Amino acid sequence: MKSSPKTAALLLCAGAGRRAALGYNKIFFDLGESTVVERTVRRFLHFDEIVVIHAPGEDGLLKNALSAHCGLRFAEGGASRSQSVRNGLAALPADTEIVAVHDGARPFVTRALIDACVASARETGSGVAALPSVNALKMRSKDGLVSLPRDTVYTIQTPQAFSYAKLLDAYARVSGDFADDSEVFERAGYPVTLVEGSPENRKLTDGADFFSPGPGFKTGFGFDVHRLEGGRRLILGGVEIPFDRGLLGHSDADVLTHAVMDALLSAAGLPDIGSLFPNTDPAYKNADSLKLLGRVTEKLTDYRVLGLSAAILAQRPKLAPYLPLMREKLAAVLTIDPMDIGLSATTAETLGLVGGGRGMAAFCTALIRRL
Ligand code: MG
Repeated sequence: MKSSPKTAALLLCAGAGRRAALGYNKIFFDLGESTVVERTVRRFLHFDEIVVIHAPGEDGLLKNALSAHCGLRFAEGGASRSQSVRNGLAALPADTEIVAVHDGARPFVTRALIDACVASARETGSGVAALPSVNALKMRSKDGLVSLPRDTVYTIQTPQAFSYAKLLDAYARVSGDFADDSEVFERAGYPVTLVEGSPENRKLTDGADFFSPGPGFKTGFGFDVHRLEGGRRLILGGVEIPFDRGLLGHSDADVLTHAVMDALLSAAGLPDIGSLFPNTDPAYKNADSLKLLGRVTEKLTDYRVLGLSAAILAQRPKLAPYLPLMREKLAAVLTIDPMDIGLSATTAETLGLVGGGRGMAAFCTALIRRL
């Protein structure tokens, strides 16, 4: 659905991002399901125009990274943030009514915050995302440090939405380079309206922002054990393995797939497979556990599976030759890369129930992320 005034987003992607120390522009960092820049662009698809402002020489890379989206405009950035915004404003159609400037490296912005900034800009001429400070604040002055009252100070984020005509006028009359657009707007004499931002709308800046789990990552653990009996097929990870006995259970007793399912369900905080597929229900008699895994993935619609790490404990037979096929089968159901599944097998050194050949066990951890 298009919003009613003609809206345009200017996405600033021209920064060098040196603090991220990735060796390349941080907007190309792979967040798992997409790059930073693509995730940011997806937040603005309800706008009439999107202009992506790129660093000189990076237009080809960006167009490639955003090839899933048609109708984007591209503009080359300048030597400073303010010059980049000036270039972006010049690339917009003259009938634009509201323009929202946003950092390409803030991919976690919500649609609600974007729309609140646009609504504020329609009403008052501007809507700038801002957070009250949670930290005590000091300012250095010539007489030493001065404490600032925390409730009067804000941290400014993007999006920053403005009446296009007013922001154009402000940039025409105010020269120089500034940290953000609201300063240019204010210097031109226009009032700036703040909209409550969000701590999750953080700007990916230094290395830790990229390599520490952010919000929405969840891990889960699953464990299962089944008894070995004659006259049963041995199925592990959906692969039938020649052996004189098989695992006993109500379903096909695929102990590995059961541990995988419980790890995934546990990560999502959902009830375990015993509750989902009760062994008293005839529907699950001899059930193909890979099909049950498919049913589990349907319950994870709010999540993306990022990876599994599992171990099978079995005294015999030798499982190593079958592990690659198990990974492929599990990956196909989960629609992930087999490389994202770690799988190992070990004996129990003839110790205990597994070592004595009476059963097999499996352990699995899962990493998922809320979409
Ligand atoms: Mg089981």
